[in-house]
Amino acid sequence: MDLKELTGLVGPRWIEIEATALAHNLRAVKGLLLPTTRLMAVVKADAYGAGAVEAARIFVNAGADYLGVTTLAEGVELRRAGITAPVLVMSPLLPEELPGALKADLTVTVCSRSGAEAVAAAATASGYRARVHLKIETGLHRTGLHPEEAAILAGEMRDWTGVEIEGIYSHLAEASRPEAARRQFELLQKVIAALAERGIHPPLKHICNSTGILQHPEMHLDMVRAGTLLYGQFPYRAPRRNLDLREPWRFKTRILFIHEVAAGTPVGYGGDYVTKKDTRLAVIPVGYADGFALTPVGRPKNLSDLARYLVKTILAYLGRGGGEGTTVTVAGREAPVVGRVGMQLSMVDVGHLGEVKVGDEVEAVLRRPTASARLPRVYCREGRPYLVRLPGGELLPVGSPAAGKTEWAAGI
Ligand SMILES: *Cc1c(COP(=O)(O)O)cnc(C)c1O
Repeated sequence: MDLKELTGLVGPRWIEIEATALAHNLRAVKGLLLPTTRLMAVVKADAYGAGAVEAARIFVNAGADYLGVTTLAEGVELRRAGITAPVLVMSPLLPEELPGALKADLTVTVCSRSGAEAVAAAATASGYRARVHLKIETGLHRTGLHPEEAAILAGEMRDWTGVEIEGIYSHLAEASRPEAARRQFELLQKVIAALAERGIHPPLKHICNSTGILQHPEMHLDMVRAGTLLYGQFPYRAPRRNLDLREPWRFKTRILFIHEVAAGTPVGYGGDYVTKKDTRLAVIPVGYADGFALTPVGRPKNLSDLARYLVKTILAYLGRGGGEGTTVTVAGREAPVVGRVGMQLSMVDVGHLGEVKVGDEVEAVLRRPTASARLPRVYCREGRPYLVRLPGGELLPVGSPAAGKTEWAAGI
């Protein structure tokens, strides 16, 4: 499928997801684990932007044992697509969501006594069996059962019909701080021991996210929950070890329009940016509504963070424009985004690039979880598209007619 055919199908902008890279990353992470440790592939937030259904299929085919999501809707989306692997919903659900979750055969998280009672009530009322993981509060202070409360509750739950405690877990607040992570791990271990004293042995005990997987092999327990690493990125400040990750993600678009402008021309909303010399501007169909050129702003952690933030703000004030610092790649060469980035259109200064024309392919950086779900995803194998997810969720096999199913069966 060439560029024109692809554009005819999905429009002039899309995110390419390389399936072999996702599968490779899953196997690479699995290679860090003992053979007895299971691997949960976290596919929340639309698989960090990669597209939940397709990413989940790729991970399961490559050997993932479990899938992790945050919301009921995310779990149901996987089931509707025919994915039968176990799925854990990693946040508490409201009582009225529980019948739907049990019907979809999702494993639910219990974070409180009232939550546990609601699960039991839903199981009784619906006739579906509830598989639960107890989430223990060990230091993140987000959701979870108080450690003292957990063993007592688990002891009572043992006698409840229709409810099975399959797992017990916690979530690290900052896995890269070893002492803090160790305190959390030890607290979870204490709760596990208290359950064991009552004869309760949940088969799946887990605490590690990506950083934990890299930094704390001794905390892998029965299962680890990997997100970031599977998508080809190393978590902030994590040790890199000998892990070879591949980049599955590329955002591509095409030039829609080119015009010549003279020196001193204000460009875009507010005229924030003024051209310094005669140049050519290309327009690309991507903007902040798609997540383009958005930078998360955190609270500065120290003085040098603060200084960096102030310098950036002052530069912006001095008229460097909203696209300040953002560049794209046109035919392998870098070009700056100029003027304020619009909702769905942005301008690129291509004056220095020589021959550039309407329709040329442009590659840009689009952060994963903030990349709009309205952008089509084009799934490739070794760079060749085999499946497209249109905005709205429809999946279309492309290339050879049978590409979709038969190649899945063979695995990637
Ligand atoms: C998102 C999430 C993960 C995965 O975290 P990564 O750091 O991306 O690997 C694991 N567990 C829970 C509970 C999560 O919410």
